[in-house]
Amino acid sequence: MDDCTGGCLCGTVRFRLASEPYDAGWCHCRTCQLNSGSPAMVFATVSLADYRFDQGEAAVRRVASSSFGHRAFCGECGTPLYTHVKHQPDTIDFSVATLDEPGRVRPGFHIFWTSRLPWIEIDDRLPKYDRFRPDTVGLDGTEPPA
Ligand SMILES: [Zn+2]
Ligand SMILES: [Zn+2]
Repeated sequence: MDDCTGGCLCGTVRFRLASEPYDAGWCHCRTCQLNSGSPAMVFATVSLADYRFDQGEAAVRRVASSSFGHRAFCGECGTPLYTHVKHQPDTIDFSVATLDEPGRVRPGFHIFWTSRLPWIEIDDRLPKYDRFRPDTVGLDGTEPPA
């Protein structure tokens, strides 16, 4: 993949991925709905070291979004940038929509399908999981969001 770059709405934060993202998927949990103000979010995973700020890192703010993780967002415009959870310390899940070319990263599954909004209609034949995927790395002992 060519350089995968992205940023926030106001342009303060710019980032670049040093490796190809993987495990892209939709999340329909309440935390994502509230964090985005939207029915769902699409995340993809990349190693923490490979998510590199080109500018605006000082403007990035973090909020504890659960007992086991935080979300980073642009402190100037509020764009949600990524989530980082304790049970996956070496990777982050970034918002695919923040890429300059978000269409390049295709989601492959849905999680927290049971929390989806009743008027959303998705007929994409992707696997749909009630909560987390059963093989989620390091999930034992964590308390998933309701
Ligand atoms: Zn911004
Ligand atoms: Zn979620």
